[in-house]
Amino acid sequence: MSESKHVDAVIVGAGFSGMYMLYRLRNLGMTSIVYEAGSEVGGTWYWNRYPGARCDVESMEYSYSFSPELEQEWEWTERYPSQPEILRYANHVADRFDLRRDIRFNTRVTSARFDEEARRWRVQTDQGEEVTARFCVMATGCLSAPNQPKFEGLDEYEGDSYHTAIWPHEEVDFTGKRVGIIGTGSSAIQSIPQIAKQADHLYVFQRTPNFSMPAHNHDLSDEFQRSMKERYREHRQQARESAFGIPFEVTEISQQPALEVTPEERREELKRRWATGGATIIASFADVLTDKEANDLVAEFVRERIREVVDDPETAELLCPDDHPIGTKRPCVDIEYFETYNRDNVSLIGVRSDPIERITPKGVRTGQAEFELDAIVFAIGFDAMTGALLRMDIQGRGGLTLKEKWQDVPHTYLGLTVSGFPNMFVITGPGSPSVLSNMMVSIEQHVEWVSDCIAHMNEHGFEIIEASADAEDEWVQHVDAVGKSTLYPLANSWYMGANIPGKPRVFTPYIGGVGNYRKTCDEVAREGYRGFELEPERVAVS
Ligand code: FAD
Ligand code: NAP
Repeated sequence: MSESKHVDAVIVGAGFSGMYMLYRLRNLGMTSIVYEAGSEVGGTWYWNRYPGARCDVESMEYSYSFSPELEQEWEWTERYPSQPEILRYANHVADRFDLRRDIRFNTRVTSARFDEEARRWRVQTDQGEEVTARFCVMATGCLSAPNQPKFEGLDEYEGDSYHTAIWPHEEVDFTGKRVGIIGTGSSAIQSIPQIAKQADHLYVFQRTPNFSMPAHNHDLSDEFQRSMKERYREHRQQARESAFGIPFEVTEISQQPALEVTPEERREELKRRWATGGATIIASFADVLTDKEANDLVAEFVRERIREVVDDPETAELLCPDDHPIGTKRPCVDIEYFETYNRDNVSLIGVRSDPIERITPKGVRTGQAEFELDAIVFAIGFDAMTGALLRMDIQGRGGLTLKEKWQDVPHTYLGLTVSGFPNMFVITGPGSPSVLSNMMVSIEQHVEWVSDCIAHMNEHGFEIIEASADAEDEWVQHVDAVGKSTLYPLANSWYMGANIPGKPRVFTPYIGGVGNYRKTCDEVAREGYRGFELEPERVAVS
């Protein structure tokens, strides 16, 4: 058997997490290999090329802050950046910091096993490579394992089919076609208005309606960019200390409970937030995510807007979300989503009351009708948070697999590490604020914490770090308790694992706030990595 190559660290994934991890480890003088299943950098923004794909965190917030030069030189063009623009940015970063030379593209990691004897991770890829490493960093993404369609009859479908999360690189032209889209989450809500402009007819198969707020997207003026760049450092610091990774001046999280203001004041505030655009309406009152009555008032305001925009009252009613408190599923941000239903070539098909029975060779059949379609778009989301990790065979001490360990709850300490899996780190893992934040802020915080930890180990002669089982249990209980103090568990959301049959029902991200979480992580490090067991390097006995 040929000798495996050895590096200090294997990093899995070359999205924003993996790229920054590589950069930081290089600066520590360490050797790394990044494995990336895609053929380029960018992660989410490499894969999700569907029409209308766009970030709903403002461009000047959704970018790296680690390099003042980078942040000064890069010019964003729109308030909310489109997928092609973010992908250009990711490529620019890869070039600027010469990252590609340590990235193996088109290579998927299939297994990572901790060899207790050698105290090394043994990582294997689908290209037949094996590498050993002291550290293994999972930068595999929270929303990178597409939920595969499992409709009966799919194999026999004669038309074209697409998944928003694995969109082709070549342009897809729907001109003159009858198109069906299944799903009405964020991906569908962004792509529906675009597909409707091209298709001969678009049928939207909606199971559960979602709350969506207008983006009010616009070009960024030079003056705005200049003024932001002048105070960028201070602005970034505010983002780091904020609840959601977005500075207070942008989100303005109200301290006022909704029922403590008059109905007129409440309406004015909601109108103001609606006119601002984006998801800021969720932050209009202090208790929107914790008090059902407050939440109902905001939700009703949004339903009123839907009824105002959509001409046909029956369609409007079908589009009004009614099964979850607003904000407890990822709020959607759109460009003319509800307006699209006023087009003659768009039909909304409610598949909650009349479920899809199967895909036929010609299209989609529900209990009551058959729709002939030239193309079907699956906008059915992801096996989020844990999917990308569990699709690999990850084994820790004693051959324990991550799948076994996470059978009931995805146990982590700080969302960063897993007891029984020494020297393995997860970037924005379950139990961290991750998907409840501007992810760029959370990614940078994790990557910096991990690289500082590794630097500390190198400096003090520690070879192994591992979360203690007690610290992990305590963290899992804390994440759960904070989650339960909110309305989030009331929704059948992917945050709860509800979109994937058989997945444990548990609120997976940490809603304690990005700033508070950062403080906790910093305290843990300051106290000599509280809750971790650190083992010194073994001294060779001659
Ligand atoms: P990813 O970008 O997901 O990168 C992970 C990479 O790991 C992928 O390229 C994948 O191919 C690779 N990988 C996974 N498993 C393996 C394996 N076994 N072997 C090799 N490679 C592997 N966040 C926000 O904050 N604001 C937004 O508005 C926003 N919009 C989004 C829109 C969409 C359509 C989606 C899907 C997500 C959005 N997100 C948003 C979340 C987004 O995922 C993060 O902001 C960020 O891009 C995550 O970066 P990452 O590097 O952690 O993960
Ligand atoms: P999603 O939010 O999970 O939505 C999936 C949709 O598919 C839901 O409407 C779901 O209906 C439907 N669906 C799934 N299986 C179905 C079935 N068998 N039959 C009928 N309908 C089915 O996925 P997503 O839209 O890809 O978004 C995932 C996350 O990615 C977002 O929440 C967000 O975090 C991120 N994202 C962000 C943006 C952005 O604006 N920045 C854009 C895209 C994605 P049910 O609700 O009934 O299950």
